[in-house]
Amino acid sequence: MSDQTPDSASEPRERPEASPAPTQQQNQQRRPNQQRPQQQRNPQPQWPDLSVVIPLFNEEESLKELHSQLRAVLGRMNLRYELLFIDDGSTDRSFQVLRELKRIDRHVKIIRFRRNYGKSAALSVGFEKSQGNIVVTLDADLQDDPAEIPLLKKRLDDGLDLVSGWKKKRHDPLSKTVPSRFFNFVTAKLTGIPIHDFNCGLKAYRREVVKAVKVYGELHRYVPVLAHWEGFKVGEVVVQHRARRFGKTKFGIGRFWRGFLDLLTALFTTRYLQSPLHLFGFWGLVAVCAGLVIDGWLAVEWYLGRTSLGNRPLFLGGILCIIVGIQFISIGLLGEMISKTRVSETQYQIRDFIK
Ligand code: UDP
Ligand code: MG
Repeated sequence: MSDQTPDSASEPRERPEASPAPTQQQNQQRRPNQQRPQQQRNPQPQWPDLSVVIPLFNEEESLKELHSQLRAVLGRMNLRYELLFIDDGSTDRSFQVLRELKRIDRHVKIIRFRRNYGKSAALSVGFEKSQGNIVVTLDADLQDDPAEIPLLKKRLDDGLDLVSGWKKKRHDPLSKTVPSRFFNFVTAKLTGIPIHDFNCGLKAYRREVVKAVKVYGELHRYVPVLAHWEGFKVGEVVVQHRARRFGKTKFGIGRFWRGFLDLLTALFTTRYLQSPLHLFGFWGLVAVCAGLVIDGWLAVEWYLGRTSLGNRPLFLGGILCIIVGIQFISIGLLGEMISKTRVSETQYQIRDFIK
């Protein structure tokens, strides 16, 4: 089924990545409410100033309200914008609601996945299809307040490349907020990025950032980490957080252990991607050296007749250290080989793309 609507013909087609992003000044010159030069025969397509990317999975009750809040805020900001809803395989009426919104508002664009791939996949495709100079992401469950968008944009205008929301006062159950604090603390320490809330759905990015970072699996929690390691300037701003009014959270308790495994992935694919041997090799050498020292000392003791190796468990410990150390060094070398060949990107099956 094709969901192309007639007005899509007048819309800009895919924004070519090769062409440099227009400067803010250029973009302001192209605003519709300003007079265009008469002699311009072949006007450039007018790319939006701002794209809002909204991943959603079974959020039928929230969508209308979210849309009207977004429209109110963005209307006041007086800029060109698009609302990119990514329906991540919803099984409720979310897609029908989005179609209704599309009918009344041409800013709305809908991408619909064939099945539920997860929030990271939705964000990844949203990033790929977004055309704005600034991209704002927002959860669809009304927990994030669209009224914060001007503040986020201001921080980007002040020079940051990525601004992450910080839900300082959270409206979530304790079972979620306590582990989340711990998780944010560890992530900040291990990555060296001094922000408090990595997993906030409300974030704003410069276009270059969303085109550069690759979000997959459940790495959406670590976009600031990925961006930081690509060399972008990352900052945060305190935002209001609201309790979930409709539906329920899509992430169970499994989010925490998966979150930590993903932290390892984030660290390895950024910090150690270029040089896995630096991590594994270092600890491998430490273990081998420790094993050699322990066993060497025991061998001397044995030679001098002061001990029998049979009743020294430490001897086995030394051997273990040497074996584990060699394993580590080998893993590091394998990692070096793998990092030389880039794994091809995952393809997501998009069901509809309504422009
Ligand atoms: N979401 C999604 N795909 C999923 C799970 C969640 O697109 O597989 C969306 C969800 O609809 C919401 C956002 O991601 O817009 C955040 O999800 P949720 O509110 O459940 O997360 P929480 O607030 O509990 O962290
Ligand atoms: Mg939520």
